[in-house]
Amino acid sequence: MDLPQSDFATRPMVDNYGRTINYLRLSVTDRCDLRCVYCMKARPKFLPKADLLSLEELTTICDAFIRRGVTKIRLTGGEPLVRRDVLSLIDNLGARIGVAGLEELCLTTNANMLPRYAGRLAKAGIKRINVSLDTLDPARYAALTRRGTLESALRGIDAAQTAGLNVKINAVALKGDNEGELPQLIEWAHGRAMDLTLIEVMPMGEVDASRNTQFLPLTEVRERLEQQWTLTDQIGSTGGPARYVSVKETGGRLGFISPLTNNFCAGCNRIRVSCAGELFSCLGRNGKLDLRNAFRTGGMDAVDGLIDQAMATKPARHDFTRPGEVGDPVSRSMAHTGG
Ligand code: SAM
Ligand code: SF4
Repeated sequence: MDLPQSDFATRPMVDNYGRTINYLRLSVTDRCDLRCVYCMKARPKFLPKADLLSLEELTTICDAFIRRGVTKIRLTGGEPLVRRDVLSLIDNLGARIGVAGLEELCLTTNANMLPRYAGRLAKAGIKRINVSLDTLDPARYAALTRRGTLESALRGIDAAQTAGLNVKINAVALKGDNEGELPQLIEWAHGRAMDLTLIEVMPMGEVDASRNTQFLPLTEVRERLEQQWTLTDQIGSTGGPARYVSVKETGGRLGFISPLTNNFCAGCNRIRVSCAGELFSCLGRNGKLDLRNAFRTGGMDAVDGLIDQAMATKPARHDFTRPGEVGDPVSRSMAHTGG
């Protein structure tokens, strides 16, 4: 496939609040081999395959964003590695690193398929991946993911590190569930030279449990960790929602993504596209634009027009509601949007 001309960043994406958008998160499928209890129902309804953009279309749409100033793309889902032939997309995007304005290609995965794919990801130019792992207890892992085994996830993490990928662990903090285990999880990650980021469960889509029973404020978690460890805030932004601290006793870095207890929207630099070509300017809102239709009927000019519309309408902040508050809950799941 021909690489795009180097006329990128001719019209950078800047929203009405002066935020420059340079990070695209692309959900390549809403399907997954797991069924995490905070992410989806036990029997989720996935999009019909006919609704999906082809991998070639996704590549061309990425090119449109690269031309508009995107320097970092994260492939996510659903589980990105379950999409058939996803490596062709990864290879094509990898070929754009350092050539067409793209500086970094990353991936978020549950690690199950990494023994098969880690080497290929590294070869394609991916240097860093995020792996979701909420527990080191085999029974809890099986219960939380409904389908997975801890052994398989750990094999995937081993394969990634062996392939030279820098791995960051993401763990959703769950009330009355993995909450007592978080210090061990952090120690384990830091012991393997991996950063770990804790995430507050977000009210997105329908799950079988009540969000009230899952939600654990990270303010509480941080207070508890500070009783046993010395946490020092790290100055400087990573351009993301996580606030980082260093942990003196483990020598590692710990991130907090706290959309409900500590709003991070002022520094937002991202935009999201789903596998069906929906353009979401905010993770925590229901609003979306139809990029698939624009692309198929009006080509790249129409895509550019829609990107302009997204910049003009990107909200100042998300609208996640804390358990017990009244609001307009986001109806789609994280797996649909691309977490
Ligand atoms: N399947 C891949 C994985 O699990 O890493 C990528 C997609 S998954 C939707 C991306 C991230 O979203 C994971 O770290 C997962 O734990 C997180 N996530 C899913 N549902 C969430 C929710 N309701 N609130 C907070 N995080 C959630
Ligand atoms: Fe799948 Fe990731 Fe959602 Fe778990 S969090 S069900 S691994 S998409």
